[in-house]
Amino acid sequence: MSDSDSLVEVDDLFARELEGLFVEWQPETVPHPELVAFNNELAAELGLDGDMIDSPEGAALLAGNTVPAGATPIAMAYAGHQFGGYSPRLGDGRAVLLGEVVDIEGKHHDLHLKGSGRTPFARGGDGKATLGPMLREFIMAEAIHALGIPTTRALAVATTGEQIMREGMAPRAILTRVASSHLRVGTFEYAVRLQDEEMIERLADHAISRHYPAAADTDNKYLALLEAVIEVQAKLVASWMLVGFIHGVLNTDNVTISGEGIDYGPCAFMDYYDPATVFSSIDRQGRYAYGNQPSITQWNLTRLAETLIPLIDEDEEVAAKLAIEKLETYADRFRHYWDEGMRAKLGLTSESDEDASLFEGLLALLHANRVDYTTSFRALSKLLRGDDALWKSLFEDSAAYESWIQRWRDRLGVEGRDATEAADEMDGINPLYLPRNELVEEALTAAEAGDLDPFRALLDVVTDPFVERPGLERFAQPASPTFDRSYQTFCGT
Ligand code: AMP
Ligand code: MG
Repeated sequence: MSDSDSLVEVDDLFARELEGLFVEWQPETVPHPELVAFNNELAAELGLDGDMIDSPEGAALLAGNTVPAGATPIAMAYAGHQFGGYSPRLGDGRAVLLGEVVDIEGKHHDLHLKGSGRTPFARGGDGKATLGPMLREFIMAEAIHALGIPTTRALAVATTGEQIMREGMAPRAILTRVASSHLRVGTFEYAVRLQDEEMIERLADHAISRHYPAAADTDNKYLALLEAVIEVQAKLVASWMLVGFIHGVLNTDNVTISGEGIDYGPCAFMDYYDPATVFSSIDRQGRYAYGNQPSITQWNLTRLAETLIPLIDEDEEVAAKLAIEKLETYADRFRHYWDEGMRAKLGLTSESDEDASLFEGLLALLHANRVDYTTSFRALSKLLRGDDALWKSLFEDSAAYESWIQRWRDRLGVEGRDATEAADEMDGINPLYLPRNELVEEALTAAEAGDLDPFRALLDVVTDPFVERPGLERFAQPASPTFDRSYQTFCGT
């Protein structure tokens, strides 16, 4: 037995149930594993002993040098539509699933090492990852979690003691990702590609028992599965839109069945409000621009629906009709979460026929005046408390917003809202501190040069995003205009 055997116990649920959708694969041994980031709070949530894992033995485990006793590490197979084109065989090219940690409620959580060496799915890739992008995923996932949005989590980042070739040389690192599962729309696309109906059924049953057990009690459980995924994805994308998050690569292999956001590569929070905002250097057509995310998600869900057709009904036409009916509910579901979220962002408590035009009025204002999206909502709550300095500072001319502000105040008045109470509620959901692009770049550049303090400071700030703290003014600043215009995120590898 190796030292790590007692650190973490894992189940092998995926490996037991889904033969055909993975290859058994060991992570590569690395020379000098060292944990540079460790998430003690998440370890505790999983029922793990964080102090024991944040150790040389833990580093060996989370860098892939040792595996938990009895584990069956695997590389998962999946396909995917990437930028609209179908890739029949993607899969974990540089990752392994160690297994699932079972929490005290019996829930499974994947323990997944990203950057752990080449697998049979690596194609031309080297199977590795560098420190900057792994820390980026860590900070993005944890910030999104702190915003209350479903996401995969980050347990740790380990460096390996190696430098690898990218644009220049960069430190190599491995991320330990935790997810309620790594089932993706692309997993279903891969199963269909095997032309084995038993396989797709086994996969769908696995997804149902893991994520949507109530679907099993309906008269068409596969249709219920589709509906459940439509629901969680509509809610996820609405949540992203409300905080100005742009995923960057919404390919079907990056869309989960669980409804958790996954794979934070070239993602970013929007600075100035503009639906056409794209940061990712690989998204040249703007397919995954901020404003396209709701419709592209429906497109991705349609790819999922296609894979379930043979299970939904023996008669293909009947199955297609049923699936389309469900897909058609997506827009209303999205709209519901968006409206509800926007009302809350503006301190409103009741629905009105005027809602859509009130929201559009604000967004048009922000767009026309290039106003920082995140700051605007905090400025509105200050304004309600009688301090309009921040709001005023966002515009060149007060004439631009006076009539909108009056409309909004009238709405709050009709609701009989106490202004301070509304402002407090707004501040509880409109973040002040986000991993803004400029801050993230600065922290990752320092980390790659050996200084992790800026990363740790930023992580600390963005995992407590709502409560204003003195001394952190810099973290709440809108981006400087020159930075925003030139900023691109790269599909970090
Ligand atoms: P991603 O862009 O991270 O969603 O990855 C898309 C596909 O490329 C997945 O199949 C990855 O496993 C694979 N991939 C990305 N980077 C590498 C790499 N350095 N080595 C091997 N496979 C990779
Ligand atoms: Mg991916």
